[in-house]
Amino acid sequence: MLLKLEKIGKIYDSNDILTVGIRGIDLAFDYNEFVTIEGESGSGKSTLLNVIGANDTYEEGELYFNGEPTSHYSESDWEKYREKNIATIFQDFNIIENLTVLENVELALLRLDDKKERRRRAKELIARVGLTEQMNRRGSKLSGGEKQRTVIARALAKDAPIILADEPTGNLDVKASKEVAALLKEVSRDKLVIVVTHNPEFFK
Ligand code: ADP
Ligand code: MG
Repeated sequence: MLLKLEKIGKIYDSNDILTVGIRGIDLAFDYNEFVTIEGESGSGKSTLLNVIGANDTYEEGELYFNGEPTSHYSESDWEKYREKNIATIFQDFNIIENLTVLENVELALLRLDDKKERRRRAKELIARVGLTEQMNRRGSKLSGGEKQRTVIARALAKDAPIILADEPTGNLDVKASKEVAALLKEVSRDKLVIVVTHNPEFFK
């Protein structure tokens, strides 16, 4: 089992005011799963993704990664976990607007020292998300759907087993949402993809 949550709880403490983000969450996820999460505003969806993605700590329960408990992790253990295992996609397209699609994706491949290999791999990923024709276009000139597909190519460039997406189609029209939903579904063949969404395209 790739991820297992056992009675997970996240309690926010701001100036001694305690707020329950999530509590008593039992879930298990594995490779090749495409998971969608929906729920009312404030029900803890983002908190859940933030805990899984180690953008937030958890105070209750145990998160197992590949069967190993993580509650004893130090800050640097979490950093390694995040770096190696987690890729995130948010509602706001976080690409660099004055770089091209190709440059944006290459930035996520800096671990490859060989420039030619980096370019080859970037082009491969760009083809996978269907942006070959827009490869040399700057971020600022892309449609919302194209921006989000660039973000997905970057997430794939990281080669992490877990992709977390929080309302990835929140700023997209129906057609672009469909494309992004289909792409994430396809991506989940050899990864775990968890999507927080209200978008009916995902449930179809
Ligand atoms: P959702 O994503 O489902 O809308 P959230 O995970 O953002 O819900 O929030 C769950 C609960 O945790 C809410 O009650 C929210 O007010 C609270 N919460 C979220 N983030 C913080 C924070 N940084 N500080 C304090 N409370 C928070
Ligand atoms: Mg949220």
